[in-house]
Amino acid sequence: MQFGDLELTPLFDGYLRLDGGAMFGTVPKPLWQKRAPADDKNRITLAMRPLLVRSAAGLMLIDAGIGDKMDEKSTTIYGIDRSRNLDHALADAGLTADSIQLVLASHLHFDHAGGFTTRDADGTIRPRFRHARYVARTAEWEDATHPHERNRASYLPENFVPLKTAGVLEFAADDGPITHGVRVVRTGGHTMHHQIVMIESGSRTAVFTADLIPTTAHIDEPWIMGYDLYPMDTLAFKRTFLREAIDREYLIFFEHDPAIVAGYIREKDGRKYVEPVTV
Ligand SMILES: [Zn+2]
Repeated sequence: MQFGDLELTPLFDGYLRLDGGAMFGTVPKPLWQKRAPADDKNRITLAMRPLLVRSAAGLMLIDAGIGDKMDEKSTTIYGIDRSRNLDHALADAGLTADSIQLVLASHLHFDHAGGFTTRDADGTIRPRFRHARYVARTAEWEDATHPHERNRASYLPENFVPLKTAGVLEFAADDGPITHGVRVVRTGGHTMHHQIVMIESGSRTAVFTADLIPTTAHIDEPWIMGYDLYPMDTLAFKRTFLREAIDREYLIFFEHDPAIVAGYIREKDGRKYVEPVTV
């Protein structure tokens, strides 16, 4: 879709399934299952949708899905279905992995950074986007490379350490511009240094909310993932952000929603809802 002087293309790296209870934290199942039906293992289906931003500065990808390195056990546990994946989505956009010039990470969990690297036939893991530089937030990198018991399963070194080794990883320490029309804002909450991406052209703003608002089912303030390390920080940021998103009519890209790619958050009689936008 054309967005001022930018072009935004939501891509797709398949589906995964995560425990519904974990996805909705303290929300009781009778409430969340109306929005996201569970399978026989209590899992709900989530999409992985990296966002492609084309500007005068070049082609940028925000997050890259889960990639192709997950082993069979994890593929089963997480119900990963990549029968349609990022390679297909890039081809549909007339591109290949080699077209991408810049890759930006919202954070370094495996369902966002898994696609940053790929395993060659000889087993070597290398940057998947061979002509790209990658940008991660400094403190998120520190956390990802010094995991503890609570976040270790989400940070798989093979997804990001080879980028550093290959010399293609750059760091952004603070909130601010990344490239033409694109800036990052730290939310905290999900991880201490999780960030969202604000995309601005003229007077319009689009936001890639990553795991702050992973699906349209999460637009109510207390619908916060059990995965979040600092849920009260999520709540504080989300409260302010939602007000802003409604008042200023931000176009929201929902990275994990299985059906709705993007839309506007509206409020009527105190109830929030999403007006989907076809992109
Ligand atoms: Zn995620």
